[in-house]
Amino acid sequence: MNGDGRLTDVLDPEEKAQDECGVFGVWAPGENVASLTYFGIYALQHRGQESAGIAASNGKQILVYKDMGLVSQVFNEDHLRPLAGHIAVGHVRYATTGRSAWRNAQPTLGPTPYGTIALAHNGNLVNTQELMESVREKSGEDLTGELGRGSSTDTAVMTALLGCLDEYGSLEEAAMGVLPTLRGAFSLAFMDETTLYAARDPYGFRPLVLGRLASGWVVASETAALDIVGATYVREIEPGELLAIDESGVRSQRFADATPRGCIFEYVYLARPDTTIAGRSVNAARNEMGMVLAREHPVDADIVIATPDSGTPAAIGYAQESGIPFAQGLVKNAYVGRTFIQPTQTMRQLGIRLKLNPLREVIEGKRLVVVDDSIVRGNTQRALVRMLRAAGAAEIHVRISSPPVTWPCYFGIDFATRAELIASGLTIEQIRASIEADSLGFISEEGMIAATTVPEHRLCTACFTGKYPLPVDHARAAAGLDPLSEDS
Ligand code: SF4
Repeated sequence: MNGDGRLTDVLDPEEKAQDECGVFGVWAPGENVASLTYFGIYALQHRGQESAGIAASNGKQILVYKDMGLVSQVFNEDHLRPLAGHIAVGHVRYATTGRSAWRNAQPTLGPTPYGTIALAHNGNLVNTQELMESVREKSGEDLTGELGRGSSTDTAVMTALLGCLDEYGSLEEAAMGVLPTLRGAFSLAFMDETTLYAARDPYGFRPLVLGRLASGWVVASETAALDIVGATYVREIEPGELLAIDESGVRSQRFADATPRGCIFEYVYLARPDTTIAGRSVNAARNEMGMVLAREHPVDADIVIATPDSGTPAAIGYAQESGIPFAQGLVKNAYVGRTFIQPTQTMRQLGIRLKLNPLREVIEGKRLVVVDDSIVRGNTQRALVRMLRAAGAAEIHVRISSPPVTWPCYFGIDFATRAELIASGLTIEQIRASIEADSLGFISEEGMIAATTVPEHRLCTACFTGKYPLPVDHARAAAGLDPLSEDS
């Protein structure tokens, strides 16, 4: 562990886009809500591996337990037992706003005039400074809750704002007043002592779904988390919608008109393959992307292999469409990732091999098609190509099931700065030379969009196209300020 309490990620050679969080909420009298939430956030672990937390209410008080680490590292039976009650929210975090540190872990907890709030957030706000000014206007220097404890996240600011306004009669009313002032991406699960709430920004950048249990209701970032806790999928929480769930049932209110622009990168890489978004199976979308890729960038080769696991559905699609057999050429060590153990220099030099190991008997002498979902900085692919050549590959043809990532994301995905994105400064031929592949092909924007079956005007594709759903002030963003101009 680093001196500041951070987990180290230097063992993780994957330089993929990092998703920012997963949220889960349950209202279910008579159920063990803490255990359900544990398994819910376990199912969402891929969305964030830096911290995990659960808040639970017994109707009178809310208890929170959270810490740095994976869900399985943070919780055991002794931690879950005191989290008794009939409502819970859970969270897994990858840091986007605010450093990776204990004080920024979620759910955030804070006082309100009507009780206590515990809040879990997936996304990234772009007017945090403006919101912080509103908090200071109300609270002065006397900050309470997570801000008072030193948190620096947009989530802590949002939580404070929901708690510092005294003109409303309930948290539900306060949410209807505050949610329209938040700008950017937010899929929220939050609660007071008696009610579970869920809300999604008007663009619906990040997924959020409602599920039904025999004895209650569940909200979760992905449908896969509903499946895993035995909940039945009911529907997506609409962009611009606030749900309140208590003993009266589910109440829906609209705090803004919906202008849906779901993140296409959820289909490419971020979401689990066994999740469904906007009626489209993520696995089916990735298979289709592989098929399109095979049509757009055919090549003579002996086998198709995937960069596991995220490249596998597209590699299967490429193999089906091209008729070239699919084979497992790389074995993933699934349990290497973020760890509290500092690696030695020798281990650092092993790089990608800590995570992926080639199967020499499959690869040797073969012309390979290697399918991956995206290229961000290019370092992983270069190391992979070198490793496959060392294992005896005769030719290496890299195929990528998303177009080149050329723009930063301001809506919660941590790619890299624009200068670090390999595709923002190089042509495709230069990228091919840089990663030392024999050939390189990216799926077209049209092909990727068509594979989702979602109309283009309902998707955000900004990191590939530069067409942001909201006006973006890149200079402010580069200066570390809110990326959107205040008057946009
Ligand atoms: S910029 Fe890219 S990663 Fe960010 S929300 Fe849009 S499509 Fe998703």
